[in-house]
Amino acid sequence: METLLYNIGDMLSGKFDSPKIKADSLVIDEDRIVSIGKEPSQSPHLSIDCKGMTVAPGLVDTHVHPTIGDFGTKQQSVGYLERMVHGAVTHAVSAGEVHVPGRVGADSALAIALAAYYSYKNYGPLGIKVHGGALLLEQDTEINHIDQAFEGGVRIIGEVGIGSLKDPKRAGELSTYARDLGMVVHMHCGATSDRGAGGEKHPYFSADDVLTVRPSIASHANSFVSLSDEDVDLVCDHKEGPPFIEVVQAGGVRSMLRVVERLMDRGGLDRLLVGTDTPTGYGVTSLGIIKTLGDICSMTGLSPEVGWAIASGNAARAFNLEGHKIIEGAPADLVVIDASLGSPQRSAMDALAAGEFIGVALVITDGKIRVNGSQCTLRSRRVASINKI
Ligand SMILES: [Zn+2]
Repeated sequence: METLLYNIGDMLSGKFDSPKIKADSLVIDEDRIVSIGKEPSQSPHLSIDCKGMTVAPGLVDTHVHPTIGDFGTKQQSVGYLERMVHGAVTHAVSAGEVHVPGRVGADSALAIALAAYYSYKNYGPLGIKVHGGALLLEQDTEINHIDQAFEGGVRIIGEVGIGSLKDPKRAGELSTYARDLGMVVHMHCGATSDRGAGGEKHPYFSADDVLTVRPSIASHANSFVSLSDEDVDLVCDHKEGPPFIEVVQAGGVRSMLRVVERLMDRGGLDRLLVGTDTPTGYGVTSLGIIKTLGDICSMTGLSPEVGWAIASGNAARAFNLEGHKIIEGAPADLVVIDASLGSPQRSAMDALAAGEFIGVALVITDGKIRVNGSQCTLRSRRVASINKI
């Protein structure tokens, strides 16, 4: 049961160092990409004429706050995960199930992380993969809570600083333990977002705190209230700074550009991650990753192909996720994108470079067409022609 995509204009690899592929077709068999630029081995049951549009790996949102199912308590919203797929996102990574009510300490934080991990492991509307279950660190969190989370399958520590543990030194001990186990540790940067106990005692997480905690990711360096300019520079430049630095849609634009330009100057763009930090008080942002990429590319001159690789393959590397690259054998989680109808731009990449919203024509997850004409973007300039044989 092969599917052929042909007449592809730009094909993006999701690879940071070689972001474009010189080929105009690819073949999917069941849920995998089986060949690129070759004829199908048998008559395909579905052929998709891409009409010169761009084919790219689905995007990864590295900073989502899920609760349970497709419901977000913070915005009282239903269906935000499904809408993210309409915005070309095929993988959402939890930075902590912070909006699940009833988290009062380490035991409940552990239970919530395990429940989210197991639930989202088997649930993703329109085929979105949700890496749920990010253990939040509380004042009474002990090593055994991390061990139990790890044994249960949880591989993420949610943003250090949004649980009740505010002491960077103690958080650093737990972060180091978790990272040694192979877990990925997010750390909240900037002003605290926790209205619970302890927030007033530690209202701002600085570059010094990041260097003390030693997380995997300095999360939202451009938070609601960003790191200061000096702290942005220190996190980016310090030789013991975190392996990844994240910018988000729900944050300051000026500090986001400072992070990106700083990393560009120093040849460190492979440390950059792009998330939305939603659903939060900021809202639900179905097009948050696309918008952030357009902002970055149009205002820093970053090549949109490299930008797309940062938000797909590079993000997958940060969390050890399978796929998000166009290579033979990878999961077939793909998007077909274009400039929007009415745009003066000729392609999706030209549109991103101009800071425009792109049109999402098709989203394919697990080898199946889940979105044919996004309900969230404008219509794409061209429309794919789908033929069943
Ligand atoms: Zn967050």
